[in-house]
Amino acid sequence: MLLEVAKETEVELLRRVLRELNIHHIIKKHEDRHLAVVDHMDAALVERLKEQGLIEAVIQCPGPHKLVSKAFKEKTIIDIHGVQIGGTGVVMISGPCAIESVEQLVETGLALKEQGVKIMRASAYKPRTSPYSFQGHGEEGLRMHFEAQRQHGLLTETEVMDPRDVAIAAQYVDILRVGARNMQNYDLLKELGKCGKPVILKRGLNATIDEWLSSAEYIMAYGNDQVILCERGIRTFETKTRGTLDLSSIPVLRSLTHLPVIVDPSHAAGRADLVGPLAQAAVAVGADGLLTEMHPRPKESMCDARQALSIEEHKVLREKLAKIAEAIGRSIV
Ligand code: PEP
Ligand code: MN
Repeated sequence: MLLEVAKETEVELLRRVLRELNIHHIIKKHEDRHLAVVDHMDAALVERLKEQGLIEAVIQCPGPHKLVSKAFKEKTIIDIHGVQIGGTGVVMISGPCAIESVEQLVETGLALKEQGVKIMRASAYKPRTSPYSFQGHGEEGLRMHFEAQRQHGLLTETEVMDPRDVAIAAQYVDILRVGARNMQNYDLLKELGKCGKPVILKRGLNATIDEWLSSAEYIMAYGNDQVILCERGIRTFETKTRGTLDLSSIPVLRSLTHLPVIVDPSHAAGRADLVGPLAQAAVAVGADGLLTEMHPRPKESMCDARQALSIEEHKVLREKLAKIAEAIGRSIV
């Protein structure tokens, strides 16, 4: 439940009262008001706090999710320097798995720009299964992303794995991403709550939709309303694909949350030949965007080569997606 604090001057007093009552809470500024978020509180106590002039109104949010729920807000559209995620456009966020060099980023970025893409993905920090695999260029990679952006002009996004990297990454890129393996890294989520940049939150490999939403709740509770959920496939018994893309999560999330939802067909499939069909299905089912891996020379990709689209394949896919988007009253951005 969300308690709207009566006046800013009452925030500290309410905090003290709730602490004395042993009621765990988070007080969060939302637009021009303060909200105290609590899991549950009995009606008599709510009445008493109202009578004392500490709270003004109550928003009931049954279940574990409060700020991410539809009870709190109908719809979130995130505006990133004029590019809207969660509106009628289906936003493609494309680029290589890993940052390899400035030249690679500029070449990819210019090709994407020509196709009309507005946001480029690329990771400096790589969560690899094997410690012997390329681990990413780290902070130096972030600088490459920044340097390349000056030349291609696209918005940029990248993954953060460690809470200590959040502030520095936020200086270099426009959107931060939580990878599947870190969906329940709560210290990371708390830090992202304070970073001031939009966050793409991927679904964990074995996370339920409720657990995923609870992770989004962390980011919002700690101060960041700009959260984008990303379905990227879950672990099942199937071995022909890297993951099993759970497209049912998109309409399910629509009924539960106001947050935008995008789909990553690349990590779900693990195979370039499946990326197109899955991306088309994702648009048809109502995704607000796609996170897709592509590389100017997929075979040379230092990471996830098997699932990278070439520049030409990406172009053909965009054209196919445009038709599907049009059929459902949307457009590809
Ligand atoms: C990625 O998008 O670069 C990535 C590592 O994906 P995931 O976290 O979904 O495995
Ligand atoms: Mn990858």
